[in-house]
Amino acid sequence: MPLTTVQQTRLQEDLRGLIKGDVRCEEVTQQLYATDASILQSRPICIVCPRSIDDVVAVVRYAAEEGIPLQLRGAGTSLTGESLGEGIALVFSRYMRRILETGDDFVTIQTGLLRRRLNGIIGQSQNRLFGPLAGNVSSASLGSILARNGAGLHYLRYGLPSDHLVSMTVVLANGDQLTLDRRSLPQPLQGDESVTLAQEITYGKEYVYAGKVARILENRTSEQLVESARRLPVNRTGYAEHAVLHGKDANQVDLARLFAGSEGTLGITVEATLKTVSCPQRKCAAAFFFRSIFSAVEAATAVLPLRPVLCEMIDRRRLSMVRDWDARYRPLIPADAEAALLVELDAGTLEDPSSADDCKNALAHMIDLVQTKEQLCFHALRVNTPEDFQLFDEVIRRSELALGRMRHSVQPIPLFDDVAVPLNTMNTVISDLLSLFQRHNITASLSGHVGQGNIRIHPLADLAQPDAIPKLHVLTEDVYSAILQHGGTISSEWGTGLLKSQFLPQQFPHLTPLFREIKETFDPQYLLNPGKIIPQETHWTTYLRHGLEKRGLPPPTPVGASDSRLMKQRLNALTPDQVAIQLKWDPAHVFEAVHRCNGCGECLRFDRQSRICPLFRGTATIEFAPRSKADLLRGILEQDINLETLTGGRAKEIADTCFQCRMCDIECPAKVDVNVLSFRSKAAYVAAYGLPFKDLLFSRLDTILTLLTPVSSVFNVVMRSRVMRWFFEKTLQLPQRRVVPTLTHRPYLKRVRWSPLRHRLMPDQTQKERLALFVDTYINHFYPQLAELAVQILERNGFSVHVPVRQQPSGWNSFAVGHADRAGWLARYNSALMTDLIRQGYKIITMEPYSASCLTKDYPYLIDSAEAELIADNTTDFCSFLYECYQADKLNLEFQPVPNRIGYHAPCCGLARSVSLTMDSTPAEKLLRLIPELDVQRIERGCCGMAGFWGFQQSNYRHSLQIGTPLFQALRLPKIDFGVSDCSACCSQMTHGSKKPAHHPIRLLAAAYGLLPKGTTFASSSWR
Ligand SMILES: Cc1cc2nc3c(=O)[nH]c(=O)nc-3n(C[C@H](O)[C@H](O)[C@H](O)COP(=O)(O)OP(=O)(O)OC[C@H]3O[C@@H](n4cnc5c(N)ncnc54)[C@H](O)[C@@H]3O)c2cc1C
Ligand code: SF4
Ligand code: SF4
Repeated sequence: MPLTTVQQTRLQEDLRGLIKGDVRCEEVTQQLYATDASILQSRPICIVCPRSIDDVVAVVRYAAEEGIPLQLRGAGTSLTGESLGEGIALVFSRYMRRILETGDDFVTIQTGLLRRRLNGIIGQSQNRLFGPLAGNVSSASLGSILARNGAGLHYLRYGLPSDHLVSMTVVLANGDQLTLDRRSLPQPLQGDESVTLAQEITYGKEYVYAGKVARILENRTSEQLVESARRLPVNRTGYAEHAVLHGKDANQVDLARLFAGSEGTLGITVEATLKTVSCPQRKCAAAFFFRSIFSAVEAATAVLPLRPVLCEMIDRRRLSMVRDWDARYRPLIPADAEAALLVELDAGTLEDPSSADDCKNALAHMIDLVQTKEQLCFHALRVNTPEDFQLFDEVIRRSELALGRMRHSVQPIPLFDDVAVPLNTMNTVISDLLSLFQRHNITASLSGHVGQGNIRIHPLADLAQPDAIPKLHVLTEDVYSAILQHGGTISSEWGTGLLKSQFLPQQFPHLTPLFREIKETFDPQYLLNPGKIIPQETHWTTYLRHGLEKRGLPPPTPVGASDSRLMKQRLNALTPDQVAIQLKWDPAHVFEAVHRCNGCGECLRFDRQSRICPLFRGTATIEFAPRSKADLLRGILEQDINLETLTGGRAKEIADTCFQCRMCDIECPAKVDVNVLSFRSKAAYVAAYGLPFKDLLFSRLDTILTLLTPVSSVFNVVMRSRVMRWFFEKTLQLPQRRVVPTLTHRPYLKRVRWSPLRHRLMPDQTQKERLALFVDTYINHFYPQLAELAVQILERNGFSVHVPVRQQPSGWNSFAVGHADRAGWLARYNSALMTDLIRQGYKIITMEPYSASCLTKDYPYLIDSAEAELIADNTTDFCSFLYECYQADKLNLEFQPVPNRIGYHAPCCGLARSVSLTMDSTPAEKLLRLIPELDVQRIERGCCGMAGFWGFQQSNYRHSLQIGTPLFQALRLPKIDFGVSDCSACCSQMTHGSKKPAHHPIRLLAAAYGLLPKGTTFASSSWR
């Protein structure tokens, strides 16, 4: 239902007048809410982020009056298009995410709160948690967990989310509010039309609705009762009408139980009180490996009587993807395993502990049963220590996300995954399914929470093939027939959404009319989440994401295809010439990156185990998330929005919410190159309108600093004056409070050029291992002493160092603001210089990770690929290089003690370059640990918020400090003398935020080698 511009403006103005929350109706924002983690898409006409229940009621009443449907949305990561639709999208995860009350064993929350965030908070303060886990993704909101009431990974331990629901407040489609407290269930009021206003006022609306529902249920036919009784305990298709009536005469109506699992089609849950449980004492688990998937299912059947709390099956494909993803699993997961079964036994809770010995004995019995007696598995691993459990949990999480890492056009399609069957029929069903796949010539990945009968089936298909959709369509029907034939359900936890709801009558032919009656009792106009649970006429394929086929255009070139010429032809056919000419993008690369994003929502995290995405986590604004950058470009490539949009202010605003920290490189499971997508968007804007003045200053910072060098002492005095800083804030957007480091009067590269010792820094043809030092803007102009010390340290280790004095800055800041011309020029210039050196046998050593990151990861988008490859292979940063020397026994370890306690912060670019997991130690950290008496404490509190020069802009200043606050708080602790980071920009932010000095590891290494003058302390960041 696309609106005209006038209608859109009216809608926006009306809603903005009614509520305090955000209202956005422009095309670009609509596009960002048009998809979730499914293969479907449907664009809302308006996005509303309510701030309170009053806002929700106002929007609902307005929508009811205007007849506009509403879709409810948490983080938008469902796999069946549950949060999609063409009406107003009500987004709860933006503002309605507070904890309202915490008791000893309960918590009252607003429903936009993420489960993981809640558990992080109450886990730390009370050692308690909300148990049920719907999706093993990090961004699931509690509103969605209740709306879906899925069995989930922890079903065997905690049961369903509704088992932990104490009460909920819901807003109905007519704006009525109900408080559904399960501790005092309403009894139905007799009569329908006859319920008087007085009765309604006396008893409350809950009693009226209870009466209506009770009457529907009392009239169930015998076929409906039979169908109802036959459903599986983990069924998630239709409404839970079977669980609503309680009491001796079935005269208590549990409406909350009906709303749980209704996928937001009956009402909007705005607040809920949930039971919490104490964190489990985890002691015992095992991983079994099998030669066949059937043996794994047999083993699950064998261990179930031992009452495990988790029983998860992972197939060969996922296991091998996990091994490739994380090296820690290579020695643990046998390469020839066809399937694994992960089983955990209950060791009780704090209040109700079971003995550790009992648990160990039970585990020994289980292993003996599966491995020796039944001879089902060929290998078993015990999980005992906290570290083992961390690996155990991670393998489950990673196995869910791993398929997204497949690097070719054949991709896992979330289509008919999440089915469930009785466990005793599972092997027959799997065997039927495998024959079906063979007949349809399709491969698939099969795994699941087998302990509760759940099977995850991911067909692997190339949706760009013309016959893919029809083939999958037929296959879907066949799969569902097979599942239903064996008494199964087409959904056990993910809900039916837009993808599966049309199959509801197939599973519940008799109950479907009853479900309709229930829906119409609460929402007669079908305004809430239409098309979900109760089927509509539109076929699911109408919502398919890959929209090009729908318009009769040639299908997309498969992801990862090398024929970028073909891709360009296609894109040129789609793009208006005059805009295409201006854009600086490589269509093949954009296409590949965009289509890799599967909407999994891992980039919407807030927890401390991750850093992605520093810009999103402070605001919880979906537009700031990495996913949005991919969604925006997808909209353009699939012609859902105009190409010209890319050069509009809103697109620029979205692209600007990436400061190229590169954490996506390690934390996005699908490895979407968001960094480069943002660069492309920014570059498109710059190509169309030129560079904004403040961005020009940052892009040209090195030129400006060079020009200021002769007057550096005046500059430094001026920069210390509050009045002048105020003036610069007003004119140059440089924040008044930001302390600018002291500008040197002799930049390092100039020093080298005119130094009498220059011969030492010239190429030395006699040396076998030759190093060329790359000195970027920050060190060159603000910390030249670091470069001098770096040379001395390398010389101490027997290397002769060449400093190419004609080198230019890496161009990192030009790249960050989308100044493609200058970034390209710098890349071409430096690569000519460096490839020449590399061919002479030199290795390029940078002193800061962002320089290394730019040279190795950004240059490939700017220069010839052969040169880029050569540079990437031969460039490393200073600390990584020295640590490699240490590993090769070549590092001079004659260190003097440095008796200090330091808080080490790993810079984002450094992490992304040198490790595969955020929590891993970086080479700099490992190197510092070699220094005697130096107490190195790693502070993992996320990004510092500086991001090169991003934090130097007035518009970003507050946000920059807000991002860095957890780090500053940790640094301020008395147990830390000063901070250390291998990025000078991070050091300056750490000093600014914590008021403690922060130093580059080069300075500590220099101290350890005795290269600093006697009496030097680390009490100040200043070198003078
Ligand atoms: C890789 C991957 C693995 C997954 N694995 C699982 C799994 O194992 N088990 C599982 O169950 N799910 C799984 N999911 C699906 C998904 O992550 C979960 O369903 C998650 O709970 C969705 O949370 P959300 O906040 O993104 O919800 P959304 O997608 O935003 O919404 C989900 C549903 O909840 C409704 N809703 C949201 N808020 C409200 C509200 N306040 N009131 C009423 N209705 C509301 C929406 O209308 C929609 O119907 C997986 C997803 C991914 C990407
Ligand atoms: S950008 Fe990566 S982490 Fe974010 S939704 Fe896309 S695939 Fe998931
Ligand atoms: S590169 Fe960093 S700032 Fe940019 S989207 Fe990824 S995590 Fe966010």
